[in-house]
Amino acid sequence: MNGEMNGKPTQGMRMQTMLAHYGEETFHGAVVPPVFMNSLFTARSYDEMKGPGNPFRYSRISNPTTDALEKKLAALDNGEAAKVFASGMAAISTALFHYLRQGDHVVCSYPIYGGTYAILSQWMDRYGISCDFVDFRNPDNIRKAVKPNTKLLLTEGYSTMFMDVFDIRAVIAVAREFGLKSIIDNTCATPSTLKPLDWGFDTVMHSLSKYLSGHSDVIGGAIISDSETICKLTEIEVSLIGASLAPFESWLVNRGLRTFGIRMKQHGQSALQVAQLLANHPKVTRVNFPFLPDHEQHALAVSQMSAPTGLLSFELHGGELSVQRFVDALRIFKIGVSWGGFESLVYATAIGWQHEQVRGTEYEARVEGLVRLSVGLEDTEDLLEDLEHALNEA
Ligand SMILES: *Cc1c(COP(=O)(O)O)cnc(C)c1O
Repeated sequence: MNGEMNGKPTQGMRMQTMLAHYGEETFHGAVVPPVFMNSLFTARSYDEMKGPGNPFRYSRISNPTTDALEKKLAALDNGEAAKVFASGMAAISTALFHYLRQGDHVVCSYPIYGGTYAILSQWMDRYGISCDFVDFRNPDNIRKAVKPNTKLLLTEGYSTMFMDVFDIRAVIAVAREFGLKSIIDNTCATPSTLKPLDWGFDTVMHSLSKYLSGHSDVIGGAIISDSETICKLTEIEVSLIGASLAPFESWLVNRGLRTFGIRMKQHGQSALQVAQLLANHPKVTRVNFPFLPDHEQHALAVSQMSAPTGLLSFELHGGELSVQRFVDALRIFKIGVSWGGFESLVYATAIGWQHEQVRGTEYEARVEGLVRLSVGLEDTEDLLEDLEHALNEA
């Protein structure tokens, strides 16, 4: 980790220490930096305005509160620079506009986050950009899908519904072999468990709305990459598309980050206990949590990810009716989309999901009985009791 902390380098600083202090200038000794609620910044002279001097002119492009967050996010992913956006989808679409031109082709893993699937399967087509979705669990599929006009490989560190793990060494090997750009959506694994830039990815994207902010009170996104990429992206796509994160939202994410490492430990510990409970329950046919030793992707998962997060799914006997009974019997887990906050949530693919994404694949039969849990920060015992009770009702 490079950079400055009150003038001192942060080299060697561990994650929670960096998150507590890095990238924050002090103003009057304030322990919490202020929110710069400014659309614009004035210059003291004609020459200062004309010259490159002041990095802050207009908050669509940059703002000191946003800048502090960007420094921290770049350090967190061991990247050179970061840019934040009004949502995770704004980050993804801006990155696609940055990397792709008319006639280009993308190879993307599936099942992938719904918004990413929608933008690449239907919408980019308008601009002459095509995409093939392949199963990245087998690296041969990736290699076979590469065409002469392929520019980009896009994947996730850990997928959001079925909790698949993709072999990131293999993805990088294919990218290098064919000279392709590689992007990873690391929202689900998070930089507390996986640092894709260290493995050779060109660019990492995140939704900040999940674990990074952690309090279910903000929507945001981020792109982390080398300085040159972030600089070009800021000059062109950020300026033209303008999906910037507002100062107050940036401040909220920064506040959430101060406890990120501690929250992730607790989410992961509780999720492991939840997974063990589910694995031993007769109504559960399958637990999608690669940190259980008998999961088929366990070896790959532990070779890439340093710890579990709070996100997992499982599959119930008895189809949608059983899923409905289970969901309605829960008391602490609330029914909701999204995840990664302090609160425990439940969602089921039978409630609504992009079924067309998996039509004709082995995943199709699993959609009806799949339940996803975002294990929150409540006391683990309460969560286990809630699940046990609801499973008995299912
Ligand atoms: C939530 C999510 C997104 C989209 O982020 P928003 O902040 O909701 O726009 C993208 N990718 C993944 C994996 C997500 O979970």
